[in-house]
Amino acid sequence: MTAERLIAACRALAEAGLSPGSSGNASVREGDRILITPTGTALRRVTVHDLAILDLDGVHLGGPAPTKEAAMHVAAYRVRADAGCVVHLHARAATAVSCLALAVHDDPLPAYTPYRLRMLRRVALVPYAAPGSDALAAGVEAAASMSHCLLLANHGSVVCAADPERAVDLCEELEAAAELTLALHGREARTLDPATAWA
Ligand SMILES: [Zn+2]
Repeated sequence: MTAERLIAACRALAEAGLSPGSSGNASVREGDRILITPTGTALRRVTVHDLAILDLDGVHLGGPAPTKEAAMHVAAYRVRADAGCVVHLHARAATAVSCLALAVHDDPLPAYTPYRLRMLRRVALVPYAAPGSDALAAGVEAAASMSHCLLLANHGSVVCAADPERAVDLCEELEAAAELTLALHGREARTLDPATAWA
């Protein structure tokens, strides 16, 4: 059942145009196992039979070889007890924002709207490290302990959610906020104070 929901989420993300080519990978945590999309398959094509099975340390227990970016997923689950699903994408606007010259401690998505604040909360920017590297997994682990929505510098995004359906919502909201950030980049724009936006 969880596997089917993950596959439906992969399809929804592909249909929304958020996983160009064969980019992007997704996983669910089910008890003490992680089901994760395999290496070399597009999200629009993946089926339940293609999912790799890992333990919570990332050891491959069964199924095809997992995505080469699996270590980021394992790292995110390690620090987020609330995460039942992790999605990593190279969606266009979020990736474009991840390439802007920002300091690591800046919020990469300014607080322009109350829903961006409510849904995405504090978005963390993970310093660049090579895809699949231990350094990138360590960066994701550090950032995910503080935020459920991450931008990976010059690469893409990672979101952590309770379940696959909410992960899809978050990915779409992140992309919409990134599009807004690009539209307003370099302009004088009003931002909201997170402390009072919903007061
Ligand atoms: Zn990637």
